[in-house]
Amino acid sequence: MIGAFARSSTARRALVLVLFLPMLLAVKRPAGLGDVADVRTWSHDDYTRVVVEMTRPVGEIDVKRLTANRKAGRPDRLYLDLPKIWVGRDFEEGIPIGDGLLRGVRLGQNTLTTSRLVIDLERYARHRLLVLRSPHRVVIDVYGDRKRSDVGIGESRTQRTPNGRLSIPLRRIQTVVIDPGHGGKDPGAIGVGGLREKNVNLRLSKMIGQRLEKQGFDVVYTRKDDRYLSLEERTVMAEAAKGDLFVSVHANASTRRATRGIEIYSLDENHERHSLDVAARENGVSRSEVDSLQRAMAKLHVHENSEHSVALANAVHGQLLPGLRKKYKSVPDLGVKKGPFYVLFLSSMPAILLESGFLTNKYDARLLRSESYLRSMADHIAQGLTDYRQRGRQIASSGAAQ
Ligand SMILES: [Zn+2]
Repeated sequence: MIGAFARSSTARRALVLVLFLPMLLAVKRPAGLGDVADVRTWSHDDYTRVVVEMTRPVGEIDVKRLTANRKAGRPDRLYLDLPKIWVGRDFEEGIPIGDGLLRGVRLGQNTLTTSRLVIDLERYARHRLLVLRSPHRVVIDVYGDRKRSDVGIGESRTQRTPNGRLSIPLRRIQTVVIDPGHGGKDPGAIGVGGLREKNVNLRLSKMIGQRLEKQGFDVVYTRKDDRYLSLEERTVMAEAAKGDLFVSVHANASTRRATRGIEIYSLDENHERHSLDVAARENGVSRSEVDSLQRAMAKLHVHENSEHSVALANAVHGQLLPGLRKKYKSVPDLGVKKGPFYVLFLSSMPAILLESGFLTNKYDARLLRSESYLRSMADHIAQGLTDYRQRGRQIASSGAAQ
């Protein structure tokens, strides 16, 4: 769901910053500041996402929490200062949300050179913050125990997370979200003979999806054509579809043209050196900027899906490499790895990222152009996902017997 942008007088009254605005606006806007281009919100079962898009980067920022001030009539809130950003009065009325988790979002000019985002809370358990590029934006996900009443009859024996969703091991695996990496203005890696990653990813993704549908899965694609999507749009789509598994499909690149082979990643803050380069490229940031994601991950320290994602990566790897190498003996197995990928971090379901081969290597590039090779890859990947679903069923049935 995309948050409503209707204005309300409640939100207007709640805007504390309005007191300071006349004073500030009498002063000329300093030079060199960026603007707030857009504010978007999405409400999910598990969390509400707030995205503020800006025309320049904000650097190091942090979310702070303030508890309710009943005398002043203010609820619990989170706030975040955006240095070198001018918002003026564009968002002074605020954006009401009222989804049982967030009351609303407001933005105001806090100092001449700093804007402040305030998130008024109804409920709160934790949050996470990500700073992303192209376009520059901050993403804040607020988690909490949203009131729900849709727990079905006869399901009382199953384990449920606080928000009412089945915990991962017992969730029936039905919907797979396939995410063809890059697209539109973002070609991804460009390889031998101008082979574009975005096109390889889309072709392979559609083949995987077709096979999964034959195996009885529901398949949702983040894109089915050549279009640009931000990383959080991809995961928002996955959440909206209530996906059970998330598979992001990519192809690799290296400055060493001899490097080739297949890698499968799950999300982790601990990783090898090489993973950092891959993560930087797939995240669309510089290597040094991957650090901020690692810190964000370290702060959360528990990633509910981490072990399931590793199991998923192993299941796919266990089918893909042996299966493929029956016919294509020379394909190197670079193994199951861990890396800090935004698209995996933003997913609340077990998630993997496949690097199908190196476009910069002439052998891999030739294979990735071949219809029959991609078909073979898709067959084995789909088989790996089926294995994972089967294992989940076994665990669930042995758990129910106890
Ligand atoms: Zn990629």
